[in-house]
Amino acid sequence: MIKKKSITIAWLYPDLMNTYGDRGNIICLKKRCEWRKIRCEVKELNVGFDLSELKKADFIFMGGAQDRQQKIVSADLFKKAKELKKLIDAGKPGLYICGAYQLLGEYYKEADGTTIKGLGIVDLYTENPGMNTKRFIGNVAIRSSITEEILIGFENHGGRTYLGKSVNPFGKVIAGYGNNGKDKTEGIIYKNIFGSYLHGPILPKNPQFTDYLIRLSLEEKYGTKFKLEPLNDNIENLARVEIARRLKVKV
Ligand code: GLN
Repeated sequence: MIKKKSITIAWLYPDLMNTYGDRGNIICLKKRCEWRKIRCEVKELNVGFDLSELKKADFIFMGGAQDRQQKIVSADLFKKAKELKKLIDAGKPGLYICGAYQLLGEYYKEADGTTIKGLGIVDLYTENPGMNTKRFIGNVAIRSSITEEILIGFENHGGRTYLGKSVNPFGKVIAGYGNNGKDKTEGIIYKNIFGSYLHGPILPKNPQFTDYLIRLSLEEKYGTKFKLEPLNDNIENLARVEIARRLKVKV
């Protein structure tokens, strides 16, 4: 039995990639660990960060941003893409939201046609169809591919993401737009990482998914199975139910 459990989270580019409450995901992960006496250390990694910090982490998180910030981040992260791919392919768990999710793919084409090179880690690409097309904005409900539960979030993106054959969607769109507004897919699952358009932030709104990520990080770190002690999620569930009600979705 492991007495003092701990996890280290690498938070990539908190000063640039952090929109629509993405910071709340870090707060939620940390609190849900601490309430269970699991130590949780958060390392904020900004432009020019040392790769060794990423290797030491048990979980990687990166939030969303607008195109301008994505460009700065892509230039920095591109230098580390090979190492990040190695870590991800070896099973390093992580969550990548919106702009970060788009960067994992082959490329992101902006509304004016400029292309931001992606990291090429996951088989997907993203294109914004042009200035006069609508942004996908609003509350979203998806059916999780992992647990079949309904997950709730908020999306705001101009890019449409298309998945290759080697990746599975994170969920099926029940209400909202998801990856591209057409094929009902939302996000991706690849190895132990999750990409999603769900801001909101996603984790406080979906405590069951947060716990899934904590358990996954512990199991990868310690190489043994874990069962997390349940917490009182009444308030979180009230928020979920309210958003679902507005979307006319049953949870
Ligand atoms: N710039 C991207 C888009 O609009 C990502 C937006 C975001 O991260 N919220 O598609």
